Amino acid sequence: MSVVDPENRETTGRLMSVCEISNAGLIASVRSNFEQAMMRSFRSLLSKWLALACLVLALGQPVRAQIKPITDLQPTVLLISMDGFRYDYLQRYSPANLNSLAANGVRARWLIPSFPSKTFPNHYTIVTGLYPEHHGIVENNIYDAGFNAIFKLSDRHEVENGRWWLGEPIWVTAEKQNQKSASVFYPGTEAEIGGKRPTFWKKYDQHLANDDRVDMILSWLDLPRQQRPTFLSLYFSDTDDAGHEFGPLSNETKQAVLKLDQDIGRLLAGLRARQIFNRINLIIVSDHGMATVKLSSAILLDKFFDPSLAERIFWTREIVSIFPKPGQEDVIYQSLKRSLPPTARVYRKSEMPARFHYSHSPRIAPLLVLPKEGWILTNKKDFAELEAKGETKKTRGGHGYDNQLPSMRAVFIAHGEAFKTGKLVAPFENVSIYNIMTSILGLTPAPNDGNFRITRAVLAGMKKARGPHP
Ligand code: AMP
Ligand code: ZN
Ligand code: ZN
Repeated sequence: MSVVDPENRETTGRLMSVCEISNAGLIASVRSNFEQAMMRSFRSLLSKWLALACLVLALGQPVRAQIKPITDLQPTVLLISMDGFRYDYLQRYSPANLNSLAANGVRARWLIPSFPSKTFPNHYTIVTGLYPEHHGIVENNIYDAGFNAIFKLSDRHEVENGRWWLGEPIWVTAEKQNQKSASVFYPGTEAEIGGKRPTFWKKYDQHLANDDRVDMILSWLDLPRQQRPTFLSLYFSDTDDAGHEFGPLSNETKQAVLKLDQDIGRLLAGLRARQIFNRINLIIVSDHGMATVKLSSAILLDKFFDPSLAERIFWTREIVSIFPKPGQEDVIYQSLKRSLPPTARVYRKSEMPARFHYSHSPRIAPLLVLPKEGWILTNKKDFAELEAKGETKKTRGGHGYDNQLPSMRAVFIAHGEAFKTGKLVAPFENVSIYNIMTSILGLTPAPNDGNFRITRAVLAGMKKARGPHP
């Protein structure tokens, strides 16, 4: 695997000039009475040999010589999120680096996302060990009546405002217990939570190239021990982008998976060059899977209730959150209950099936409409726009559906000194990842919804270990 970063390109450049100088010096020193013809052929051979030797050096050895081995690594976790990477992509698209990590480390048959199977709720569950109803990021769009404000992904001001982010993410647990953390993107890392931020963090920039993200991680690992973070996070959106645009079974999504695998391969080469590949604890996850969706399979909700009876409605294709005007909840509920087609269902928040863990936050809307897999919820106006753009003829991908559906299944791959090797474990919920990370880092975890049995199943030498919250 080649290691190509600005540092190495510089090294290569420096080496080539050293080679050029020594080449010239050597040739100058070979002066004698030899015949001119002999001399010319000897010179030509010698310079060819030197050029070849320098090329070989420049391509291989000096890169390794330039990167210093890290010999004093503390127990360290690098959490990598591949947005929207469905569990079956590993087998379906054969990404070699990911499959090799899975074969040599731990893989869950799949990871069960939390409901709703959307990006922000699940990312924040992974790092807090809390269900969305407990950590407050209940959807990608949130209304909080207490501060009468709306949170959405495109509103940077709110995404960076700590008031939305409840519970304690792993980087705050680490910083509070005197460990350093670093993030090249992860939902929540841009906000101050519980008075803390990661020591190193970046504002989300979807255009930052994956290579640059990887280089940032490697440069933080290159810091001296006192400054080096022990928890790092790395985020990639490629598989979610392609999955939405073309559907999970498209060639474009396959190519996105294989390209991402190469980017991860480049990270692994960087870890190998630093001699920490087998030591650092990699946890590679996704937040949810991806379902095939035909936009013609649409349920136009405003045919079935009067939206003017609601104070606000968050329209997403896979979950619609309705906040009724005072006194209108029953009217809206009865109207939907009576008239919705069998492809969608309305729930009062209190009626949501217990397995969704989606009833106990004041931020969850009083009424929720959920469609069957592959169907989209929309309204007359938005659907007309989709039709006008020719969108309804396309096959696309979506997520946010019932978190137990096979199409929503995510991945969990772990590799490193703390993990078992060659271990396939049964599917588990993503609330259990936080405890795994605090155990590796020797941190006292904040109260959470995770099951410590999972920590024992994936970590080496934990047979008799008891969880902090039995
Ligand atoms: P969705 O598919 O709507 O659930 O969300 C996926 C989108 O979230 C991706 O396209 C990302 O660009 C976006 N995203 C990921 N991390 C962040 C972040 N920290 N801030 C804002 N948007 C983000
Ligand atoms: Zn996502
Ligand atoms: Zn998405």
